[in-house]
Amino acid sequence: MTIHNSTSELIGNTPLIKLNHVTDGIEATIAAKVEYFNPGGSAKDRIAERIIDAAERSGELKPGGVIVEPTSGNTGVGLALVAQQRGYRTIFTLPDKVSEAKRAVLRAYGAEVVVTPTDAGPDDPRSYYQVAERLARTIPGGYRPNQYDNPNGPLSHYHTTGPEIWQATDHKVTHFVAGIGTGGTISGTGRYLKEVSDGKVQVIGADPEGSIYSDPNDVHQYKIEGVGEDFYPKAFDRDLPDEIVQVTDAEAFEMTRRLAAEEGLLVGGSAGMAVVSALKYAREHELDADQTVVVLLPDSGRGYMEKIFNDDWMRANGFGDVVERTTRPSLAE
Ligand code: PMP
Repeated sequence: MTIHNSTSELIGNTPLIKLNHVTDGIEATIAAKVEYFNPGGSAKDRIAERIIDAAERSGELKPGGVIVEPTSGNTGVGLALVAQQRGYRTIFTLPDKVSEAKRAVLRAYGAEVVVTPTDAGPDDPRSYYQVAERLARTIPGGYRPNQYDNPNGPLSHYHTTGPEIWQATDHKVTHFVAGIGTGGTISGTGRYLKEVSDGKVQVIGADPEGSIYSDPNDVHQYKIEGVGEDFYPKAFDRDLPDEIVQVTDAEAFEMTRRLAAEEGLLVGGSAGMAVVSALKYAREHELDADQTVVVLLPDSGRGYMEKIFNDDWMRANGFGDVVERTTRPSLAE
């Protein structure tokens, strides 16, 4: 009989699944590490657990403490999930552009949500960063994880994601591909895989067009969520990636829709982006059948039903051609 003590015990040990249908003409094995199998539905459960463990050990987080972080998505879910099991309150600040559905998810996990004006810049005392800072300072027992600076983010991937990939591939992984948001995933996993393979595993970053990581001279808005930045966070080890492959919104969203329709993987836009990078790299470098590329898919597509998987939203945002290419002909016509 196997009864787990809580959902926290199910964080990590996510499966590797071979991609079979979107890999046309590529001889190398392309294996997806599917992070939506974590209990909170994303890779961020991993960092939440380690960040909270470390804060308890250092005394920054005391019994009855309050975790305060500016986050609208996966990190909030991960923190709320781990925190509720240990009796901590969670407060998340988020800008009012974040959808009601996402706020509802955080509240459902028992978190308190503080909504701030989107048009307040980072230096404005009403911005979600500043409000989080103030709450963490003024609420008794307040603790601010700060995922962009916290070394336990990358460390969680060094200690879990990296070893899992190494073992699950029987040490045969030759390339690791991941998107870069805080940089925690690629830095921690990549460092482990480099160390254990004597530097042989190639680490490839996936980045939206418009983000600083692939082109610091052309930083602009883009639609892929959770990845890319306009500054360099401390959690990102800039020396680690061997290459960074740039992907457009349209390429990422087309692949995201194909992964659901052809591979049975309902994943988010940053996962589609990472797969596009992996395939571009494999084609460009003509990887052969001896190569095993592991590409990390950070979260589930459930959170994107109103966007990437909504044809009206796609058309309204200039992705009509993607809708045409990924829609099967209707039997009624
Ligand atoms: N994809 C999604 C959907 C995310 O929420 C994040 C985290 N910001 C990432 C990818 C990137 O992960 P990391 O922060 O570890 O670089």
